Amino acid sequence: MARKKAAAKEPKPANTLQDKLLRLGIAREQDLVLHLPLRYEDQTHLCPLSALKPGQAWQVEGVVANTEIQYRGRRQLVCLLEDGATRGAQLVLRFFHFYPSQQKALAQGKRVRAFGEVRDGHFGLEMVHPSFQVVAPGTPLPDRLTPVYPTTAGLSQDALRKLVRRALLADPAYLGETLPPWTREPRRLWGFAEAVHFLHEPPPKAANATAQASLDQRTHPAWTRLKFDELLAQQLSLKMHRRARARRKAPRLPGDGSLSRALLARLPFALTRAQQRVAAEIRRDLARGEPMQRLLQGDVGSGKTVVAALAALQAIESGYQVAFMAPTEILAEQHYRKLAAWLDGLPLQIAWLSGGLPAKERKKSLAAIVSGEAQLAIGTHALFQEEVVLPKLGLAIVDEQHRFGVAQRLALRQKGIGDAHQLMMSATPIPRTLAMSFYADLDVSVIDEMPPGRTPVATKLVSQRRRAEIVERVRRIAAAGQQVYWVCPLIEESEKLELQTAVALHAELTAALSEFKVGLLHGRMKPAEKAATMGGFVRGEVNVLVATTVIEVGVDVPNASLMVIEHAERFGLAQLHQLRGRVGRGADESVCVLLFEEPMSLLAKARLKVIYENHDGFEIARQDLSIRGPGEFLGARQSGVPLLRFADLERDVALIERARDAADELLRREPAAAQAHLERWLGGKQEFFRV
Ligand code: ADP
Ligand code: MG
Repeated sequence: MARKKAAAKEPKPANTLQDKLLRLGIAREQDLVLHLPLRYEDQTHLCPLSALKPGQAWQVEGVVANTEIQYRGRRQLVCLLEDGATRGAQLVLRFFHFYPSQQKALAQGKRVRAFGEVRDGHFGLEMVHPSFQVVAPGTPLPDRLTPVYPTTAGLSQDALRKLVRRALLADPAYLGETLPPWTREPRRLWGFAEAVHFLHEPPPKAANATAQASLDQRTHPAWTRLKFDELLAQQLSLKMHRRARARRKAPRLPGDGSLSRALLARLPFALTRAQQRVAAEIRRDLARGEPMQRLLQGDVGSGKTVVAALAALQAIESGYQVAFMAPTEILAEQHYRKLAAWLDGLPLQIAWLSGGLPAKERKKSLAAIVSGEAQLAIGTHALFQEEVVLPKLGLAIVDEQHRFGVAQRLALRQKGIGDAHQLMMSATPIPRTLAMSFYADLDVSVIDEMPPGRTPVATKLVSQRRRAEIVERVRRIAAAGQQVYWVCPLIEESEKLELQTAVALHAELTAALSEFKVGLLHGRMKPAEKAATMGGFVRGEVNVLVATTVIEVGVDVPNASLMVIEHAERFGLAQLHQLRGRVGRGADESVCVLLFEEPMSLLAKARLKVIYENHDGFEIARQDLSIRGPGEFLGARQSGVPLLRFADLERDVALIERARDAADELLRREPAAAQAHLERWLGGKQEFFRV
């Protein structure tokens, strides 16, 4: 509180040029060189006023016939231009924001050159807020395209152009070539200086529609070079980070197999081939003296938990502790129950850490962890981040890591875990382009096979109007002794409203299905209440579970064979896929009903179609990426982390591959060049490329 007050009293910082540039990501003069145009304006020729057509940008020149301030609803400056070429041809320049100096500049008789989009106004053709300058008769036209830069409030295009031009001349080092010829030439890349000059000041020969289009669409070779450089910087940063990790020391955890053999012997199933393969990959990593950073991917229900358990046991056999983290209390508790059952009677101690534990038990758990007595600690990430220190931490397991945004993943990487081995698990497969770029410093193991005996889930799209039929279906399923999830609509804007809806839905189903037990699970319940309800469902005492999306992750009840998702059109694809994966875990034929509200937007329809037509999580993620774009997929939206500026992960796949190879070469043959390249592109911003 005190700090807030003090901050409020400080004078508001001046909005200096430096502040404005910083908002554009420009911290150093040389960053201006990489501040590339968004598009170009063709001001190399003039259009006679009589030939203007609305709906397009043109450049015109004429003499001011009249300028006045008018009041038509709003105060505005209206300037009438004539070019004398055709009698009666006129154009109105209209300004809603203007300075007295502008009014003066546009005085009658002045010759004005203006550029802007032409539209049909009430009194003939007009330009609103064109850029303009007063010129002497016969002033030569520019002979090249005019760049338009990304800018920010209070910084004009003209000012930015001047700054960029100055930076281009300021220091030859700004334009120095970072790529040796043996990298550049086989890939037919333009030189850096050449490409940069071309983009900022395209030569006269580029002033035609074709060249302008290739510049605007960033397919021009000059753009290719810059995008390549950006991706190369990303790859270099990832690889250097990876090397640094390889130099760090982690405890070797070879294990002796005593605990893991015992677990395998008591499991009611045999591992699938895919599980065996990934378990072996992890086993090898743990035995090595450098920290593992492995991502275990496997579709919902593919059996990641048992693989994680084997890894944990290997670490424990080696005399170390393991932290097992899940994103929600419910999931953490489920892991705890499952592992406690699997490991019951084996010589190890498990500590369960929950926000909802009574103070006394919590203290006991913490004491067991801190003393090293408990070898396996299970809880949510929040708990581990806040206070818990494991003195002999050898392995950290992070479940459902895709649920976390970039910023959280950064925090997790930096805090607490130190040089322990790390195993991350995710049901959301990372599309190939992301795997090659943002996740390139992780090793990835994929479980690409489902345990046997699963029947695929049938997906049905049903309109809300047929809701009564669905309630009847629930009744039949429950009567047959199977269980049902009914997921409440997601209401992002209001948690309160979401809660009300959940309570109302619970009441509705309780009344309609009075012969069965209907449970309710939502985020505002106390952990103990949640655990009680979930426990009842797991034991089969609760027939129908009404739930907000808290059940999304990882809950495992094989006897549940029907999943109803209300307002499915509001959910994301990954979420729907996860939810659907909650059923189809037993031998019974399972169904997922997606209830939707009509009318639906085209986008919503497209998304539901993807879920309806696909069962493969990889394919769904790929289509999700193309609908949503990588920024959102990475969770960068929330954190405001800048991703790539120029390259496009969808369109530039081939370029990513080339940059990846080049990064290897460069680091091997000329590390100094790699360093210079990184310095140019990342300056102090390296962190963000490896989350
Ligand atoms: P997820 O990969 O989604 O986390 P889980 O680890 O929860 O999946 O496994 C889903 C279910 O499949 C669990 O009930 C688990 O015990 C079971 N299971 C895991 N491996 C096998 C296997 N090889 N054969 C049969 N069932 C398995
Ligand atoms: Mg799981």
